[in-house]
Amino acid sequence: MKIPGPSKLNPTTIFYLNLCVVISLVIVAIYLGIYLRNNRLLVDSVKQQAQSYFDLIVRVRGWNAGYGGIYVEKKGGVETNKYLQEVGVDPDVVAVDGRVFTLRNPALMTKEISNIFSKNDGAKFHITSRQLLNKDNAPDLFELRALKKFEEGEREFSEIENGAAGLRFRYMAPLMVEQPCLKCHQKFNYKVGDIRGGISVSLPFQKIENEIILNRQAIVGLSILTLVLLLGSSFLMLNHMSGKIDVVHRQLREVSITDELTGLRNRRYLMIRFSEELERSRRLGTSLSLLMMDLDHFKSVNDTCGHPFGDLVLKSVARCIADTFREYDIAGRYGGEEFAVVVSGLSHQDVVAMAERVREKIAALNIGDAYACIRVTVSIGVAVFGDSDTHETLLKRADAALYMAKTEGRNRTVLL
Ligand code: GH3
Ligand code: MG
Ligand code: MG
Repeated sequence: MKIPGPSKLNPTTIFYLNLCVVISLVIVAIYLGIYLRNNRLLVDSVKQQAQSYFDLIVRVRGWNAGYGGIYVEKKGGVETNKYLQEVGVDPDVVAVDGRVFTLRNPALMTKEISNIFSKNDGAKFHITSRQLLNKDNAPDLFELRALKKFEEGEREFSEIENGAAGLRFRYMAPLMVEQPCLKCHQKFNYKVGDIRGGISVSLPFQKIENEIILNRQAIVGLSILTLVLLLGSSFLMLNHMSGKIDVVHRQLREVSITDELTGLRNRRYLMIRFSEELERSRRLGTSLSLLMMDLDHFKSVNDTCGHPFGDLVLKSVARCIADTFREYDIAGRYGGEEFAVVVSGLSHQDVVAMAERVREKIAALNIGDAYACIRVTVSIGVAVFGDSDTHETLLKRADAALYMAKTEGRNRTVLL
């Protein structure tokens, strides 16, 4: 049996690592949620702007179509809409004062408004359809995808596009056939309520993308800061706690291997170390001896001076044993008034000499309190490890040697 030493990954470290994982996951989840929500709000705000533009343009087109088109004066680069001529409408009229006015139908008006917006804030509109009157209004790839979706039943479509014009938010919604549309578009057999195309709105997105990047940097910075603060403070707290736990652990371990009365090692620890030392001696071929000591007539000490005085005697003898043996010898209390010492690296003669030394020192002790002062003696049995020995045989031999020391008259050392 071995007393487990402190392992590299102690429970506190494992707990701290688990805590790190849990805290990190929670922080990442929280900040990822905030980041995604902020991004969605930013993209939603652009989408709402695009929807507003779409609604505005549809209403203005409705207003224009309601009048069957609007006439503007042909001056300053204002051209005739030749596509109207293609559908059999003459767009030009001459006023009585000789000025020429030309018709602006909703499609051309949309194009002209788009040009104005495009110059101001970069927004662009485009009316398009799969069936075109004006080939210039052919759908681009995004618009084609959107028109397909509308045919499948969707009512709006949007994408962020990274094209030649930079990042743009593209939005498109369908354009329904209304009564005024039929005048120009009847050749396609439309009915009121059909989808005859759509208006796409394109808005610059670079500013929003910059906001998203800033948002991401802020979120990453904040999460790192939060993680450092939380993990750091929990590390300090746990470190502090673990220091205290280590002290208590060391104290408990010390208590668990120490004999309470004498302060020597207890029997359990003594036997563990005895087995370890025996194995080491067998492996390295070094010498090992076991000394068993028993106080002579100790019962009568208790009987005459009382049990507490007996305790005092045990303590004094234990101190004498601890002082006599070397630091690397293992001395312990084996039982009531019996002590054992595991001595390594000494020859037969040296170990007997050492046993004799401690026996004489104990015999010379004056042990007393305010009421009594006595001397005690010990009998010592010594067994030296031989090749065929086991833990049990060596113990038995030391015990037999002690028994012999007792039967031969006590206060002596016997080697077996
Ligand atoms: P022997 O010379 O044959 O060893 O005689 P002994 O009296 O020492 O032997 P015995 O085993 O009969 O008595 C041992 C006594 O030690 C009995 C017990 O009361 C006493 N003892 C055991 N543990 C303690 C202890 O912790 N404190 C005290 N005061 N006495 C103890
Ligand atoms: Mg005894
Ligand atoms: Mg005894």
